[in-house]
Amino acid sequence: MKKEDKFDFKELSSSLIIVFSFWIVAVVLWRSTGDIFYLFNFLYIGTAIGIGTGFYSALPRKKKSLGRKLTLFLIGGYMLLFLGLLEFENMQIEGFFFYLLAGFFSGSVIHYLVAKILGPILFNRAWCSWACWTAMVLDLLPYTRSSGRIPGKWGWLRYMHFILSLGIVLLLWFGSGYHVESKSITELYWLLAGNVIYYSIGIILAFWLKDNRAFCKYVCPIPTILKITSRFSLLKIRGNSEKCNECGACMKTCPMDIRITDYTSNGLRILSTECILCQTCVNTCPTGALKVSFGLDIGGKESLNERK
Ligand code: SF4
Ligand code: SF4
Ligand code: SF4
Repeated sequence: MKKEDKFDFKELSSSLIIVFSFWIVAVVLWRSTGDIFYLFNFLYIGTAIGIGTGFYSALPRKKKSLGRKLTLFLIGGYMLLFLGLLEFENMQIEGFFFYLLAGFFSGSVIHYLVAKILGPILFNRAWCSWACWTAMVLDLLPYTRSSGRIPGKWGWLRYMHFILSLGIVLLLWFGSGYHVESKSITELYWLLAGNVIYYSIGIILAFWLKDNRAFCKYVCPIPTILKITSRFSLLKIRGNSEKCNECGACMKTCPMDIRITDYTSNGLRILSTECILCQTCVNTCPTGALKVSFGLDIGGKESLNERK
């Protein structure tokens, strides 16, 4: 076994901290609201993250992506199958807009607040590589090495999608008097139709462009939100320019086509809001030059630099 593959029990400490933090939140929310859902929901999510990240820590470097994919299935599957299909929560972005307009503080609203609006300030776009139910399927497709990002107008598709989703909701709400009822069958139909469309486009694009993450890069509307708060993320990838031999292996395997050495050679953490914190680059780097780092942007050095 290689030295870097030797398992150190200390590596489990972050998984345990995550598990206990979620368990504390579960109990506090349950006791303060009296709603047993909060206890179950946060106990499950915390435990699932703990199991997945625990496996990630324990596996050798080349197999670590299995730990990440396990977490994707445990959380993404739960969100889609339990919260969506059994609890009738419309977790699509339109559902979030509808619930906001209706003033429902539902599971969908909590989900968007925690995973996609406030959470990225702490854990960046980890949602996209560790929990998203769309990516849970896309990451099983054969094109794990991106064929490169398409420049130009493709980059606008996700923003147009976001505007279209918001526009449809506003039109239905104010134009036709359509109003949602929490946990109604209509919400389930919306969720099902939305996911069939997302999976179909995602799979077609992956095969067409030979890139599993093409849907994430060009079509998904969620990064429109994620990219705002993930700019300020405390967790980012840091490179050690002295250890880097510029072999380029990290960039060949990065699913989001990030020009990693542009940052590391300038002493910057990876500031791109396209980074999904999958850590593929960390596990690929032959010299161990990359690692996940926790840091505050004191002085605004990171915020002032251009995002590529
Ligand atoms: S970009 Fe969209 S589809 Fe891709 S992982 Fe993020 S939320 Fe999921
Ligand atoms: S830079 Fe590294 S962590 Fe970020 S998306 Fe690329 S491979 Fe994943
Ligand atoms: S894989 Fe490591 S050594 Fe190679 S370019 Fe990337 S950071 Fe540098």
